[in-house]
Amino acid sequence: MPIYEYKHTGQRGETCDEVFETIQKMSEDALEKCPVCGKPVQRLISRFSGNVDKMAPSRLKELGFQKLVKRDKGVYEKTVK
Ligand SMILES: [Zn+2]
Repeated sequence: MPIYEYKHTGQRGETCDEVFETIQKMSEDALEKCPVCGKPVQRLISRFSGNVDKMAPSRLKELGFQKLVKRDKGVYEKTVK
């Protein structure tokens, strides 16, 4: 099942943790309120649990990620252009 990331839309300090993740079924509607503090939340991204390296580069790019591969000497090389 996908993991959805939510961010509070209210002022920080009036809400609980700023960002939280929850696992929902694909068919479930996005949460509108934080289950903890009841303040409005906005769904940011969704991703499937599992190793991100298994995702196709095109999918990563679609999600706004750039895949980074660790090279020698701690240098990261971008593999998605
Ligand atoms: Zn909250």
